[in-house]
Amino acid sequence: GWRSRAAFKLIEIDDRFHIIKPGARVIDLGAAPGGWSQVAVKRGAGNIAGVDLLPVDPVSGAEIIEGDFTDPEMPDRLKEILGGPADLVMSDMAPNTTGHAATDHMRIMGLAEGALDFAVQVLAEGGSFVAKVFQGGSEKQMLESMKKAFSSVKHVKPPASRKESSELYVIATGFRPERLSDEG
Ligand code: SAM
Repeated sequence: GWRSRAAFKLIEIDDRFHIIKPGARVIDLGAAPGGWSQVAVKRGAGNIAGVDLLPVDPVSGAEIIEGDFTDPEMPDRLKEILGGPADLVMSDMAPNTTGHAATDHMRIMGLAEGALDFAVQVLAEGGSFVAKVFQGGSEKQMLESMKKAFSSVKHVKPPASRKESSELYVIATGFRPERLSDEG
């Protein structure tokens, strides 16, 4: 069985956007307890490297390490596990909620921006990025960076995501690294 309810969200996202390609190299940011990695294995990803602040029971077909994704060594460590640049970076990261909506919103967006930053360091050309964001979608600046760096950017609320929760996911496909260096 799946280790998390969140697994169903990734299944729904992938049914619609086909981001987990057979043989793909996949990075799972905020992987605990391992549901998204399980889905990536099941859908035929080749190599999967994950990280979480919390320890994760081994997922067969994935290597998940304990750590903070903001550790400056993490992009290289995960790429090394994959054996090359990633085809997909997925982030379901969420902070411990404070119950204070504005603070929670800011923290989720901070993690999403950090995940985007991470993604541009590790993605291969043509790669995809998925991240949990907040109601209303990505903040303007993050959205602008994504539109520059990817050929398509969409927001989706998977049916498995509780209606009353304000989470959404951003799906960016067709990474084009040259667009980032254009502007200096
Ligand atoms: N997608 C997962 C699954 O299906 O099993 C569920 C992920 S859970 C909603 C969010 C995770 O993000 C938590 O386990 C949390 O520890 C992790 N997280 C939050 N901040 C992080 C950070 N700075 N570095 C690594 N993981 C982080």
